[in-house]
Amino acid sequence: MSDLNKPTLGHWINGRRVVGETARRAAVFDPALGKATKEVVLADATEAAAAVEAARLAYEGWSQLSAARRQTVVFRFRELLNSRKEELARIITGEHGKAVSDAAAEVQRGLEVVDLATAFPHLTSGRYAQNVSTGVDVHSVRQPLGVVAVISPFNFPAMVPLWFAPIAIAVGNTVVLKPSERVPSAAIWLAELWKAAGLPDGVFNVLQGDRVAVETLLNHPDVQAVSFVGSTPVARSIYESAARVGKRVQAFGGAKNHMLVLADADLDAAADQAVSGGFGSAGERCMAISVVLAEESIADELNARIQERAATLRVGDGRTDPDLGPLITRQHRDRVASYIDIAERDGATVLVDGRHCRVDGHENGFWLGPTLLDRVPTASKAYEDEIFGPVLAVVRVKDLDEGLRLINSSQFGNGTAIFTNDGRAARRFEREVQVGMVGVNVPVPVPVAYFAFGGWKDSLLGDAPAYGPEGFAFFTRHKAVTSRWVTSTTGSLTMAFPGND
Ligand code: NAD
Repeated sequence: MSDLNKPTLGHWINGRRVVGETARRAAVFDPALGKATKEVVLADATEAAAAVEAARLAYEGWSQLSAARRQTVVFRFRELLNSRKEELARIITGEHGKAVSDAAAEVQRGLEVVDLATAFPHLTSGRYAQNVSTGVDVHSVRQPLGVVAVISPFNFPAMVPLWFAPIAIAVGNTVVLKPSERVPSAAIWLAELWKAAGLPDGVFNVLQGDRVAVETLLNHPDVQAVSFVGSTPVARSIYESAARVGKRVQAFGGAKNHMLVLADADLDAAADQAVSGGFGSAGERCMAISVVLAEESIADELNARIQERAATLRVGDGRTDPDLGPLITRQHRDRVASYIDIAERDGATVLVDGRHCRVDGHENGFWLGPTLLDRVPTASKAYEDEIFGPVLAVVRVKDLDEGLRLINSSQFGNGTAIFTNDGRAARRFEREVQVGMVGVNVPVPVPVAYFAFGGWKDSLLGDAPAYGPEGFAFFTRHKAVTSRWVTSTTGSLTMAFPGND
């Protein structure tokens, strides 16, 4: 039901804002204030189809435009985004809650992908081989797919859409972005920026909504590909549904990232990195550290150093640029807190307890302070499940072998890190760990834009990672052309399979 006192955020279809006819709305919260500040419309199937239709109609013109003209638009978008990024960061903080400097860092990582997208002519040009058989040449091209759907999570309202849309658009596709209904404004801001950069109407559309919108996109015959980022159960269902109807699909899921600290590591550096990797963005990052595997002989000392640092962290309203902002919703905050209860019940020691965190003047905010748990049993749900909050679980291990075994037995394989000064141990870790993104003395090893981003196992369904050269492959189709130019074919009839004559 609509609340007339609150602004309503609608879709962006065919180059303009559309509030739509749908009666369904969701409240959008400011998590630091703990109150709804606006509403977002939730698309019905008709509105979802209208967004796809706008993208379908825009496809021919956009895909036929010369590479040089498309490149000019992406360059302009890049310049505008760079000059106005603080504005976007403040919008993110108002709905997500993260510290404004962290929001700015997210935009910067997204901007890196826009930088990369400007290089698309180089990254999508084909190969050519002459005279592969007498008088026969072969060349390859990569062509755009058509309409592609991007479905993004709440935790990176700008960066995740920017992992996909700039590359998809640069190579000639048109896009329907379905952002998380909890953080709907950044997507509309990006749409307006694309328009200001000269992108033709209909090339980039934003469809606000929930599962109804997603299901319409998945089943729509004009949607050629789906890029999804979110939790593993939803990623799995999206992967299966899209594949069943023959769509190209990449579905990024959840994570449980382990950091292994060997006895020879620099413990101050490891403690610094555990704190920033575990508590940064209140732990709501798919690459956040959630488990610290500490070699038994240094575990007490490492805990002490993490505790010392955790005590200095300031929790507060993201606009004041604290170390940690609030969690996204009250339900999520309570869910994260319940995992601390579970760990305690299962025998863990709570060394730092964030459950009673309060922020003066913000009594209704969704607060949870940094939490450090020691001796978390590996059979506990608090060890196994993705918690997605500022909770670090310490598990003591005998050695590198035990650390590797634990990491490799996780259902997830997004990120991991080893902290050591032993090059041989690091090399073995790098080779044997069953995880897609690995840090050596680096806690959150998100690759730069020109290397692909993607986890293993339940952290990425499908084999297509984001950005890097693979990102261009995902958004294009490969075509190989074999050609022969001869004056006469007289006497060349042959029924045999073509060979190398
Ligand atoms: P989510 O799965 O709840 O939602 C993600 C998107 O799917 C949203 O747009 C949402 O509206 C939509 N959605 C939700 N339920 C749906 C359903 N039943 N059917 C169809 N669509 C549905 O995830 P979230 O809470 O927004 O984001 C946090 C999760 O995302 C965490 O698990 C985190 O690890 C993951 N994540 C993963 C990566 C990665 O690269 N692997 C990156 C960022 C976030």
